[in-house]
Amino acid sequence: MENAATRPEELLAEVEANIARICKPARREPSQVTLIAVSKTHPPERIVPLLEAGQRVFGENRVQEAQGKWPELREQYPDVELHLIGQLQSNKAEDAVALFDCIHSLDRPSLLKALAKAMDKAGRRVPCFVQVNIGDEEQKGGCPIGDVPAFLEKVRAADVPVAGLMCIPPADTEPAPFFALLAKLASDNGLKGLSMGMSGDYETAVQLGATHVRVGSALFGARAKP
Ligand SMILES: *Cc1c(COP(=O)(O)O)cnc(C)c1O
Repeated sequence: MENAATRPEELLAEVEANIARICKPARREPSQVTLIAVSKTHPPERIVPLLEAGQRVFGENRVQEAQGKWPELREQYPDVELHLIGQLQSNKAEDAVALFDCIHSLDRPSLLKALAKAMDKAGRRVPCFVQVNIGDEEQKGGCPIGDVPAFLEKVRAADVPVAGLMCIPPADTEPAPFFALLAKLASDNGLKGLSMGMSGDYETAVQLGATHVRVGSALFGARAKP
């Protein structure tokens, strides 16, 4: 998808309109869906037009990249909410807790321990989504489905606020069954937050109850290949 010719504020309006359109038959309010604009790889000058258009929730997948971009942008837009959507190494927990308002990739006891310690030290509790390996894929991060209840218990015992469940369905398959499964897992565990859906499938995710969609290329255009 190449949207270089389209202004980012137009793409933002388009995505917001799509979310509202899907919400209606699903009997949901658009305000129940938080649009996270995934700005990874994009420089500040690409991000500013979205900030100017009123977007305030952004997602990054690398702590170091976010540290380089956001402190300065935040001086100008202090009400920005920053979400970490990528895998997190335990040794980056302190930096992540200092910079981010929400973490979507809590998936293992060792990371929980590091995050709890970092939060104690910073005197700041950062809500975390528990990432679930919803397609049971060997190469992917995420808590195994069967371990979710026990892991949630550990998270609560560590006094880390649980925002809900997050998943990235397997590539090249119909995502709907995986979104439905994540929604079922969340409700079985008394959780409302569901971080699911990206540029290619956020409409399906909203239909199935997503409270947070993580949308990058549909807002910013294609990312440069590394
Ligand atoms: C990059 C990324 C996204 C956004 O992907 P797009 O397809 O560009 O919308 C969403 N979630 C995660 C975890 C990502 O790493």
